[in-house]
Amino acid sequence: MEHVRCNLCGADDTTVRYPCTINPDERRDWAAFRCTYSGYGRHHTIVQCQRCGLVYTDPRPNDHDIVETYQAVEDPLYLEEREGRVLTFERHLKPLERLTRPPNGRPLLDVGCYTGVFVEIAGRHGWEAWGVDPSRWAVEQAQAQGLDVIQGTLETADLPEAHFDVVTMWDVIEHVTDPCGTLQQAYRLLKPGGLVVVHTMDIDSPFARLMGGRWPWLMEMHIYYFSRHTLRAMLEQCGFQVLSDRPQGRYLRLGYLMNRVGALMPLVGRPAEWLVTKLGLRGLAVPVNLGDLFTAYARKPADAVT
Ligand SMILES: [Zn+2]
Repeated sequence: MEHVRCNLCGADDTTVRYPCTINPDERRDWAAFRCTYSGYGRHHTIVQCQRCGLVYTDPRPNDHDIVETYQAVEDPLYLEEREGRVLTFERHLKPLERLTRPPNGRPLLDVGCYTGVFVEIAGRHGWEAWGVDPSRWAVEQAQAQGLDVIQGTLETADLPEAHFDVVTMWDVIEHVTDPCGTLQQAYRLLKPGGLVVVHTMDIDSPFARLMGGRWPWLMEMHIYYFSRHTLRAMLEQCGFQVLSDRPQGRYLRLGYLMNRVGALMPLVGRPAEWLVTKLGLRGLAVPVNLGDLFTAYARKPADAVT
């Protein structure tokens, strides 16, 4: 475990917002870093910077261990939940494309693309879609489908500078060890006038505040908990002009959703999942928006010197 300073303002001045729920004698559970892991409520100490308000995990496993873990992660359940993700990404593309000119084969990069679902859909929409992800397993899945996906991180992948019109990060920034550094890399890879799109959870949303320590996104694999305010501040610090940030939910299949509810609240979720299965509704796609997920859109200035 290592101690980290605030990634937004550099201060080392925090208060505990949610105490650690992991027994120190417990063996490290690497499955906790799977995308579909349902170990809700299990997390290290979550603190809040007294100077800028950024919420993050501190102390945390060291950076090397975190990166190694993401390289090794395998997650077959993710493939099963493909249908919900396809619907979610189709819906995410609409507001994005309102902020860009028509794709016309222009380059887009999806950071943390995992098995490449968004890369595939963006390609179908007319983007020259690229992806990058540290997971060897996920990248093999993507490449087997003929998608242009590179294994690595923005630091290690040899990507061209000032090349992309759009860089997207769907549910990624809460996992990276240096979000400010990741946004700086995105800035470097974008053309002047290019768009960065960041989707993450909102720790200051009314639902998160209502749930407190029971908010389902408090999980070991999330090491940064942004609000619309702190993400905006970080984007601006990295040179971006923020265009908007607004709540944006996702689609999940009902069977999968009930399985998650069951992991969080077994007394309600397990009978509900049984009922949904009995009624043959597991495959039904339902929109989920509790206002605690949001998307920020920001531009690299058109007159930026690259
Ligand atoms: Zn701070």
